[in-house]
Amino acid sequence: MSQFASVKKEIIENVQILFDKGYLMATGGNVSMRISGEDAFAVTPSNMDYAKMRAEDICILDFDLKVLEGELKPSVEAGMHGAIYEVRGDVNAIVHTHQVYASALTLIEMPIPALFDEQARFLGRSVKIIPYAPSGTGMLKNKVAKHVKDKNNAYMMKNHGALIFGHNMMRAVHNVEILEKSALAYLLAICSEKKVSKTPLVVREVAFAKLRQDQKKIERGDFDLGGE
Ligand code: 13P
Ligand code: ZN
Repeated sequence: MSQFASVKKEIIENVQILFDKGYLMATGGNVSMRISGEDAFAVTPSNMDYAKMRAEDICILDFDLKVLEGELKPSVEAGMHGAIYEVRGDVNAIVHTHQVYASALTLIEMPIPALFDEQARFLGRSVKIIPYAPSGTGMLKNKVAKHVKDKNNAYMMKNHGALIFGHNMMRAVHNVEILEKSALAYLLAICSEKKVSKTPLVVREVAFAKLRQDQKKIERGDFDLGGE
C-alpha cells in the first residue's frame, strides 16, 4: 500500500462531503493537503468528475511540481497550491471551489467585510478579492502567493471562485461553509439596498488575534487546538 494512503483517503472523504453539499461541481475546483514530514503535497487530478474520483487518483507532488506518485495529470492549479504552502507555514489543507455565492461577489467586486464573529475568527479580517488572472497560469499563482501573505484563511478570485485554507482538512471544509454562508448573507443584504452592518471593530480584531495565535502555534508545530 502507498505510504501516502491515509492522506489520499482523507482528501477523497472530504471531496465527497464538498461534492455532496454542492461546493464542488462537475470538475471545477481542486483540493490539496500538505504531507507532514515530507517536502510534498497531495492534490486532486485535473479535469476529473468529482463523483467518480477515487483515492488512487490523487497525485503526490514535490514543491518543484515533480510527480512522486500518481498516474493522472495533477490539477492545473497544483503550482498555486504549492506556492501557498511555501508562503503559509500555518496552512496544511487548501480547497479551491467555484462555489456560487462567493463567485457572484467577485463579479460585482464586493469583498466581504467582517460581518459575523465566526467569520472573523476563522476566515480572518475580511475576504478579499484577488485580481483576475486566467485559471492554471503562473500569473494567477503569483498573484495568489502575494495576496495570501496577509494571513487570512479565505479569498475570492475575480471571475473565478474561492480559495479556502485550514490548518487541517476538517477546518478547511468548515471554512468553505462559513465563506458561502457569509457570501449569501452579504448578497441578500446588499440586494435590500439598506445599510449593511458589520461586526464591531474591536470584536473583529480580538477574533483575528485568536486566529493569528492559532496560526503561530501551528507554525511552531503545536497541533493541539482543542479539536479545531
Ligand atoms: P483542475 O481540474 O485542473 O483542477 O482545474 C479546475 C479548476 O478549478 C481550475 O481553476
Ligand atoms: Zn478554478
